[in-house]
Amino acid sequence: MKNIIVVGAGASGMFCALLLRERGFEVTVLERNDKIMKKIYATGNGRCNFTNRNINIKNYHGVNPKFAMTAIHQFSNQEAIEYFHKLGIPEIELEEGKIFPMSLQASSIPLRVEEYAKNIGVKVLLNTYIKDIAKKSQYIIADEKGKKYYADEVVIAAGGRAMENSGSDGNGYKLVKKFGIDIIDTHPGIVQLKLDYPYLKRMDGTKVPGSCTLVVDGKSIRKEYSDILFTRYGISGPAVLQISSEAIRSLKKGKDVRLSIDILPAMEENILYYFLKTNFENNSFASLEKALVGLIHKNLIIPILRDLNLDKDKKAAELSNGDIHRIKEKLKNYSFKVLGEKSDKDGQITCGGVSTKEISPKTMELKKREGLYCIGEIIDIDGDCGGYNLQWAWSSAYVCAMNMDLY
Ligand SMILES: Cc1cc2nc3c(=O)[nH]c(=O)nc-3n(C[C@H](O)[C@H](O)[C@H](O)COP(=O)(O)OP(=O)(O)OC[C@H]3O[C@@H](n4cnc5c(N)ncnc54)[C@H](O)[C@@H]3O)c2cc1C
Repeated sequence: MKNIIVVGAGASGMFCALLLRERGFEVTVLERNDKIMKKIYATGNGRCNFTNRNINIKNYHGVNPKFAMTAIHQFSNQEAIEYFHKLGIPEIELEEGKIFPMSLQASSIPLRVEEYAKNIGVKVLLNTYIKDIAKKSQYIIADEKGKKYYADEVVIAAGGRAMENSGSDGNGYKLVKKFGIDIIDTHPGIVQLKLDYPYLKRMDGTKVPGSCTLVVDGKSIRKEYSDILFTRYGISGPAVLQISSEAIRSLKKGKDVRLSIDILPAMEENILYYFLKTNFENNSFASLEKALVGLIHKNLIIPILRDLNLDKDKKAAELSNGDIHRIKEKLKNYSFKVLGEKSDKDGQITCGGVSTKEISPKTMELKKREGLYCIGEIIDIDGDCGGYNLQWAWSSAYVCAMNMDLY
């Protein structure tokens, strides 16, 4: 029976280790942190959205999103739910098909996984930071203190570079690169965006329930509805996070990227026009600054009027029909130029990574290096916000563990 070393005790590494051990392999997990699955505690706002009821190829991205679906067909969302159920973690489904542990505590997963791993004999060595992997007759894995570990096969589950303080700081790419493996350029995903807009300071902290459309080179790519939060640096909120990975991907390709915000999604254009017209007639004495109070957040009024070159002190009665149309257009299509991600450190995930061309979709083994596998976020697959990234971690781990030859 082969002995396997898994580098990284994150979601994918621990899940792979459990499955390998269940199949009878000798498994040792080497983890640089002082506890397993550190990132999981922060997932889903501390509740861990570990999969989603609705999974589709459209939820996955990277050079070859089909690669993700091949794994997910082998280990689906339902199978993930059943596995955690078996560990004593029943599921609860909340909005948009998001699945969480019934306890709504992310810690449930690492705690139950740790207990089960111990019970079935998975060895976990904490505070063990792997610096090198070499191949002689066996794989030789060296930690930062120079201590060596030997294995027949090695699974690299070191994550990407999101949330550095959880242990995934991009060092996994170095371990793999040594073997001549192609790494697709990385960038943060599911991340707050920086905007080019002069009035952000004034709008800081303003939250509106809106819809946000990603517009790339003038073409609408994707639309999301949810709260939108304006900040000092730009924009955040669930709708923005959801489209952010695609926004950054497009920027990296040199495209013009804008967000078009509809700050009144509940009002049809013609109804809004009629409302504005009647409102300005009924309140003809009011200044424009006052005449929009009640319709939109007051922090947005001055920026919008300035964008439209309308004097805030102008009386509602003095507005032309054309002005009313321009105000309506602006409220339905408040457009912002995207400059980039808030910072390299703020993304929830890393987009890019080990090229899927380098990996066998049947086993997760590197095609150029027999006995060396990659799973999880280190690979060039990224999912939407909503449980899709953890599903990828479980599914890729499953494919690796279940297809490894026993002898
Ligand atoms: C704030 C936040 C919230 C999120 N919420 C969700 C959510 O609700 N749902 C969802 O689906 N996804 C969510 N994600 C994304 C999801 O957590 C990740 O995609 C997933 O955890 C990746 O799993 P992984 O095993 O590939 O990598 P990681 O979880 O990053 O694990 C990698 C492990 O490898 C270890 N390691 C790295 N290098 C070495 C080395 N050289 N030697 C030893 N150990 C090493 C690290 O310490 C770490 O423990 C969230 C991410 C963040 C940051």
